[in-house]
Amino acid sequence: MLNFDKLTLNIPETTKPRVVIIGGGFGGLNLVKKLNGKDFQIVMFDKQNYHGFWPLLYQVATAGLEPDAIAEPLRKMFDEDYEDFHFRLVRVLGVDPVAKTVKTMIGDLPYDYLVIATGTKANFFGNDQVQKYSFSLKTIPEALNLRSQLLQSFEQASITVDPLFRESLLNIVIVGAGPTGVEMAGSLAEMRKHVLPGDYPGLDFSKMNIYLVEGLDRVLPPMSPEASAKTQKYLEELGVVVKLKTLVESYDGEVVTFKGGEQIRSQTVVWAAGVTGALIDGFSKEIIGRGGRLMVNEFNQVEGFADIFAIGDIALMRTEKYPNGHPGVAQPAIQQGQHLAKNLRRLIRREPMTKFDYFDKGSLAIIGRVRAVADLPGNIHLGGFIAWVAWLFVHIYYLIGFRSKLVVLSNWIYRLFTYERGTRLIIRPFIRKDDKVAQDFVVKNEMS
Ligand SMILES: Cc1cc2nc3c(=O)[nH]c(=O)nc-3n(C[C@H](O)[C@H](O)[C@H](O)COP(=O)(O)OP(=O)(O)OC[C@H]3O[C@@H](n4cnc5c(N)ncnc54)[C@H](O)[C@@H]3O)c2cc1C
Repeated sequence: MLNFDKLTLNIPETTKPRVVIIGGGFGGLNLVKKLNGKDFQIVMFDKQNYHGFWPLLYQVATAGLEPDAIAEPLRKMFDEDYEDFHFRLVRVLGVDPVAKTVKTMIGDLPYDYLVIATGTKANFFGNDQVQKYSFSLKTIPEALNLRSQLLQSFEQASITVDPLFRESLLNIVIVGAGPTGVEMAGSLAEMRKHVLPGDYPGLDFSKMNIYLVEGLDRVLPPMSPEASAKTQKYLEELGVVVKLKTLVESYDGEVVTFKGGEQIRSQTVVWAAGVTGALIDGFSKEIIGRGGRLMVNEFNQVEGFADIFAIGDIALMRTEKYPNGHPGVAQPAIQQGQHLAKNLRRLIRREPMTKFDYFDKGSLAIIGRVRAVADLPGNIHLGGFIAWVAWLFVHIYYLIGFRSKLVVLSNWIYRLFTYERGTRLIIRPFIRKDDKVAQDFVVKNEMS
């Protein structure tokens, strides 16, 4: 049993300024890469021991990739070559800005500079019932859980004698048509066409419905209207039912009810409808802005603090061009991490910091196998195969580590020619205690 009383942070004393970074995501990672252990003692806390490449998480959920293809251990990335760098696998609870101390599950640590790079978590907009029964897609365990849920649903659909139950197993409802929802829907549609009929020859997959539900009036709202229109067309060609201006009212694990009264029977509702900042304790409500994010100035300093910074998804930096803050995608986090490293060095040299200026490199989303949409700088909008090629290169380029690049690329090439998805394994890291169907299925199978 884990005994927290026997654990300490065990960080060596130092005479150098200590930078404590909470989170080894895109922001934290790029900050550490550009900081120098000669000038600072660098301490990174993360509640997981790996950096996740979340843009490809949906491929883990749809049996395209194994988790180790999209995640890299933080200790491997920052090995002994990184001077005076200390990683601790620990959840940070909060900060005491007066005592200049970070509070963790296993003790407190004083800091000279604190960087909050905790990203976001799923936002259920206060709907506890939806939170309890739907599947979110923010972490690797959640992706594996969803993959298992989908595969178990097909297993059960192929043997049930109850047509209504079969219908609810074959109806997949994805809520939220942002990049995650769109990519998930496209990938599932390809699976329905090319993979599942071979696995379940007795099951009629014309009865499998993939619904993509969006509250706004177009799919991919963060992208251009051109990209939205193309994406909807591609999705509909793949047989995805796109429901716009549709809001979920409730979901009891069996039936989704939309505002207006329409209902869909479904065992699998994927919640990709929104995120909110993964806050830690210690900040007043006044500095928590839109989307549960910490308000920062143009140097990423949290409002009211000279020595606390926030970067990436958790930071709300309002500028003329981005009055609601930067988009919650990887590039602002990467660029803010790199920029903050320069500013921290300036601070210890007693030089003035420079303002962060976001360079928008464009956005991409993939729909199904070989089609994508791209909004590029200069008002260039691409679609179809050429956008897919761009998507492929960008994702391979930004994947962390040579091994991951090789694994993902070879996997994609193999799948391109064979349509195969080799990772259709039901490995359920956790089952909701109240998920009777999944519980019974696993328990009864394991007993027999
Ligand atoms: C499914 C999915 C698909 C996405 N697709 C795209 C895409 O196609 N393109 C794109 O550009 N962006 C995409 N994004 C968004 C992109 O991943 C984020 O914008 C980016 O990860 C933000 O980086 P970050 O460093 O702010 O946070 P993250 O990368 O989320 O890292 C936060 C880190 O903080 C750690 N942490 C959080 N709270 C604590 C705590 N209390 N104590 C210790 N550690 C903590 C977490 O474990 C995590 O490692 C996607 C995100 C998801 C979830």
